Amino acid sequence: MSLQLTPAMRQYVEIKSRYRDCILFFRMGDFYEMFFEDAIRASRLLDIALTSRDRESNIPMCGVPHHARNAYLSKLIRQGCKVAICEQVEEPGQKGIFRREVTEVVTPGLVFHEECLDARGNNYLAAVRFSPPFAYAALDATTGEFHHETCDTEDALADALFRLSPAEFIALEGECEPRAPRGKRLIEGKLLTLLSPSAAGTFEPPSPVEGIPAADHPAAGVVRAALYYLHLHQPAALSEITRVAERAEGRYLAMDETAVRTLEIFSTMSGERKGSLLWAVDRTRTPMGARALRSWLAAPLIDAARIGERHDAVGELLEAHGMRKELAGRLDAMGDLSRLASRLAQDRSGPREVAALRDNLEALPALKETLGEPFAERLREVRGRLGDHSAAAEEISRALADELPAGHKEGGIFRPGYDARVDELTHLLTHGKEMLAEMESSERRRTGIGGLKVGYNRVFGYFLEVSRANVDKVPADYIRKQTLVNAERYITPDLKEFESRVLRAQEERSAREEELFLALRESLKRHLPGIRAAAESVAELDVLLSFADLAANGGYGRPRVNAGRDIVIENGRHPVVEKILGRHAFVPNDCRLSPDGARLAVITGPNMAGKSTYIRQVALIVLLAHAGCYVPADRAEIGVVDRIFTRIGASDDLSRGESTFMVEMRETARILSGVTGRTLVVLDEVGRGTSTYDGLSIAWAVAEHLHDAPARPKVLFATHFHELTDIVSTSAHARNYHVAVREWQGDIIFLRRIDEGSASKSYGIQVARLAGLPPSAIGRAREILKNLESAEYNEFGLPALTGARTGQAPAAQMDLFSRAERREEGAVLEEIRRCDPERLTPVDALMRLAAWKERLGKGTS
Ligand code: ADP
Repeated sequence: MSLQLTPAMRQYVEIKSRYRDCILFFRMGDFYEMFFEDAIRASRLLDIALTSRDRESNIPMCGVPHHARNAYLSKLIRQGCKVAICEQVEEPGQKGIFRREVTEVVTPGLVFHEECLDARGNNYLAAVRFSPPFAYAALDATTGEFHHETCDTEDALADALFRLSPAEFIALEGECEPRAPRGKRLIEGKLLTLLSPSAAGTFEPPSPVEGIPAADHPAAGVVRAALYYLHLHQPAALSEITRVAERAEGRYLAMDETAVRTLEIFSTMSGERKGSLLWAVDRTRTPMGARALRSWLAAPLIDAARIGERHDAVGELLEAHGMRKELAGRLDAMGDLSRLASRLAQDRSGPREVAALRDNLEALPALKETLGEPFAERLREVRGRLGDHSAAAEEISRALADELPAGHKEGGIFRPGYDARVDELTHLLTHGKEMLAEMESSERRRTGIGGLKVGYNRVFGYFLEVSRANVDKVPADYIRKQTLVNAERYITPDLKEFESRVLRAQEERSAREEELFLALRESLKRHLPGIRAAAESVAELDVLLSFADLAANGGYGRPRVNAGRDIVIENGRHPVVEKILGRHAFVPNDCRLSPDGARLAVITGPNMAGKSTYIRQVALIVLLAHAGCYVPADRAEIGVVDRIFTRIGASDDLSRGESTFMVEMRETARILSGVTGRTLVVLDEVGRGTSTYDGLSIAWAVAEHLHDAPARPKVLFATHFHELTDIVSTSAHARNYHVAVREWQGDIIFLRRIDEGSASKSYGIQVARLAGLPPSAIGRAREILKNLESAEYNEFGLPALTGARTGQAPAAQMDLFSRAERREEGAVLEEIRRCDPERLTPVDALMRLAAWKERLGKGTS
C-alpha cells in the first residue's frame, strides 16, 4: 500500500513516525485529518464518522473542522490521549504540497486550552521516582508553578501525589515500578510516559532554571525529566519556567491519603465537591484564589508564628466591614491574572487576552487603595507585592483598539495613531470602500443599468452583477465570469486593478499588524516577574478575604495556635454538617485533650448518635486553624499539630479488591508506627471489619498501644464497642465520653451532646426501630438480646460456655479486661520456660508451682 501513497500521505507517514504515541491532527485546509489507526481510535473516542481517504487506497480517515479543534482536543485529552498538532507552515513549494510541522503536543498534563482546564484547580504534570529514594516533581505549566519533594517511603510519595492529583505522570525508565498497591492505583487510568534516563535525566534547559537540584539529589532526575518533557512537547512553555522550589516534608501539617479522603477535605467519599470541607469554606472570588485555597488546605502551616500572621490578617479584614465589601467587589471583577500571564509568556495570548491582562492590571491600584495602610503583616506584604503595573497597562492601552478581533492575524488590532503605516493602509482600505461605491454608481450611469451591483466572492474576487433582464445593456469591455439563475457576473480591468490594490493593502496591513502585535507581546514580557508576584498577592488576598467572609457570616472565631501540646475547643461545630443542617440545628461540643491529662478520649454511643461527626469536627477545626482560617468554635487553643491520622469507616475500601479488614489493619499499623507527641489521631470504629471478639480485641489493643506510646499522641477513639469503656480503669490518660441520648416511650432521642462518662446502653435495637425495621423483627431482637444478656447464648446464638452460664463474662471478654493479669501470665510463662526441672528438688518444684498458681490468681486449692 505504501507504494501508492500520495506525496501528502508520505509526508503524513513520515511525521507520524516521530509521534507514535500521539494521535496526529494533520492539518489539511480547513480540517485536521487523522488516518490509519489514529482515525479508528479517534472516531471511536470522539464519536465521529470514520471514512476513507479515497476508494483505491482505503486508508481509514476521520477529521474535525479546524475552528472546532479545541473542543475535540479536550475530549481526547480527558480520555488520556496525547495529541500532536501538525500545521501547514509554508505555502506549497515545487512539489505541490504544504510544508507541515508539529507545532505542539498536547497531553493531559500539558494543556493550555481553557476547554480542558478547571479554572479552580491546578493541572499538574508529575515526574515520579517510584524507587528509593522516592521523589517527585510537579509542574503546572499553566501557571508556572513547579516544585519537587523527596519522600522517605513509597507511602509518603503516594500521599503527596494524592493531594496534588496530577493529570499525567512521567518517569524515567527503570524508576517506575511502584511496589505498593497504592502507587499502582495512583497511576491507574492516567497517562504514564517513560523517558530515557540518558536524555531526560540529564536534560539541560536552554535558559537557566533556578533551584535545579544537584546531580546527587534524589529529585535531580525527576526535575530534569519534567523540564525535558515540557521541552519536547511545549517548547514555548519551557522558557516561562524560571525556578523550581523544594517542598520538604515536615514543613506542613501532614495528612496521608486516608486522612484527606476520610476527612472529605476536597471531595466527599462519593467523589463530590458538595459536602466537602473545601465546599463549606470556599468563598474565594478569583480562579487564583480558588487554587491557592486548595493548596493552603492541602498543606497547612505548622509554624505558630506564621499561622498567627494569617489569623491577624483575617482578623483585620473581619473588622473592616466596608473594606471587605469593597475588596470583594474588586476581586469579583478580576480574571485569571496568573494564567493570563502564563499565556503571554508562552506566546499564546491573542489581542483580547492581552486586553484582559491590561484590565486586570488596571484593577490593581484600586485594590491597593482599598487595602489602605493595613496593620497585619500579611496584608502589608500583599499590598507591597501588588506592585505598580501602570506602565504595562498603558503600553497595552496605547496600542490596542477598543474593539478587538479574537486572533492576531485578522487585522484591526491597533488603535489609530499607534502606527503610521497601519493607519495609512487602513485609510486606503476604508477609502477603498468609498471608491467601490463610486465605481458602482459611475458604472450604473455609464451602462444605464439601475440595479448593477459591485460584489465580492472568495473564488474570483470583486465582480459587477447584472440581472438577466439587463444583460443586453452590458458594454463590450465587461468580461463574463459567472452565470447565475437570474444574473450574470462580470469583471473589468479597472475593477481588477482596484482589487489588487485593496488585497495588497489588506495583506500588508495584516502582516504589519501581526509584526506589531508580536513585538508588543515580546515587550510586555519584561513585566512578567512583577505581574506574577501581583497574581500571587491577589490569590493570597482572595483567600484571606474568603476566610474573613466565612468568619463574618458563619460565626467563626479566631483560634490560637501555640507551641504547647494541648487541644482545647469550646463549642466546636462541624463546618460541613453545620452548613447542611443550618447553624441552629447543630449542637456544639467541647474537646479537651492533653498529653498530661486526658490524651485518649473514648467516645461511645449508639449508631447515628453523632460520634463520627464529633471526632471529624475536632480534626477539621485543627486543620482549618493551621491553614490560617478562623474556626467554627467559641474558643480554640491548639498546640501545633504535626500530623493528623485518621482511620474512619470501611465502606470505601471494598472497591479496591482488598479485604476491608486488611486495609484497616494496614492503616492502623501505619498509624501506630508514625505518631509523635504532636500527632492527632482520629479513629472511628476500628475493628468493625471482623467478628465481634476479634474486632473488640483489636480495638482495645490499638487504643491501649496509642495510650501507652511514649510519644503521647492525642487520640479520639469512637467506638460502638461498649466494653472498651473499661479501658479507663487501666489506662490513666484515657477518658470516657458518650453521646447523650434520652429514652422516651421506647424510642431514643439523640441529644448530640458529648458528655463525660460512658454510655449506659448501646440502644442498637432502638436505632433499628428508628430506621424502620418491622415491629416483629424488633420484638424478636429484644428477645434475643435478653437471652444474650443473661448469657444463655453467645454472640453466634449458640449455647454459651459453662463459665458464662454461671454468670461470668465470656472467656474471650475476660481476657481483655485485665492487662495487669495478662502481664503476670506472660511473666509466669517466661519463668516456666526458663526453669530447668533437672536442677529442681521436688519440694522446690512444688513450691514454685504453688507460687505460680497464686500469681495467676487461681488459688492453691
Ligand atoms: P455515628 O458516628 O454516631 O453513627 P454520625 O456522626 O454519623 O453518627 O451522626 C449521624 C447524624 O447525626 C449526622 O449525619 C448529622 O446529621 C447528625 N449530627 C451529628 N452530630 C450532630 C450535632 N452535633 N448536631 C446536630 N446534628 C448532628
